[in-house]
Amino acid sequence: MSTDGFVPDPNPEQVVSGGNDTGVTAQRGEGVPSEMRDIRHDHVPTEGSLSTPDRTLIRMSQVRRGLGILGGTFDPPHIGHLAAAVEVRSALHLERVLLMVANEPWQKAGNRPLSAPQDRFDLTSASVGDLEGIEASSLEIDRGGPTYSIDTLHQLKEIAPDQQLFLIVGSDAALNLHTWHRHEELPGLATLVIVERDGDRNAEPPAGWSVERVSMPRLDISSSDMRERVRDGRPLNPFVVPDVINEINARGLYGFTDS
Ligand code: ATP
Ligand code: MG
Repeated sequence: MSTDGFVPDPNPEQVVSGGNDTGVTAQRGEGVPSEMRDIRHDHVPTEGSLSTPDRTLIRMSQVRRGLGILGGTFDPPHIGHLAAAVEVRSALHLERVLLMVANEPWQKAGNRPLSAPQDRFDLTSASVGDLEGIEASSLEIDRGGPTYSIDTLHQLKEIAPDQQLFLIVGSDAALNLHTWHRHEELPGLATLVIVERDGDRNAEPPAGWSVERVSMPRLDISSSDMRERVRDGRPLNPFVVPDVINEINARGLYGFTDS
């Protein structure tokens, strides 16, 4: 069985549970995910009275097998983003999923003024809270300039050559992959994860990709809807987590007026 570069922890007593255990990536300027410096395996099963071979099998099957990357603008982050990240992490047994906050999403450029990258990163960190194995990453913001996934994947490969990378996209994005910058190089760097919301048609990505499909309940919400809600004075709760609502309020984003 492949462990995809992870070595099972020989000393379960020292395992520390909790996803955001170091909180390292929740700080701007620390774009390198903490799992790349400090790989720990949570959820080590209770071994009870199992024989040694059984214990080994169970532990091997629980080993996380890589790093998911859910890219987006996150302006603002909402529970659809969180649900997608959680579902993919669980379905594919990933060590961690990064909410990768785009610095300058070139495909959205020119459509509307985006909130500052720092604000979007802070909101994304706040949205993650203590969700296990989900983290906001500032890698693309720290890199600066227009954001291309190809650069992000190359950078992650360099930082963590042993990690298997999983590029997570919605089925709408899967159909547009051929428009991405240097798209023909992407399949050599990551497995594509297509998140299919209930009712989605089976999206066929361009040839060459190794594909995993993960289904999730349809939460028909978007950041655009959330911005419109703020403008109209309609509630964000429960579509945006309370800590993010507080930050939107405190920063006066999206035309928020506290009246
Ligand atoms: P906007 O309305 O500004 O386009 P968005 O809600 O689509 O924002 P993005 O930051 O563009 O959010 O999306 C980042 C990623 O999250 C994309 O892969 C997208 O498919 C996915 N995503 C967005 N909304 C949802 C949702 N409701 N459920 C599951 N995945 C979602
Ligand atoms: Mg969108």
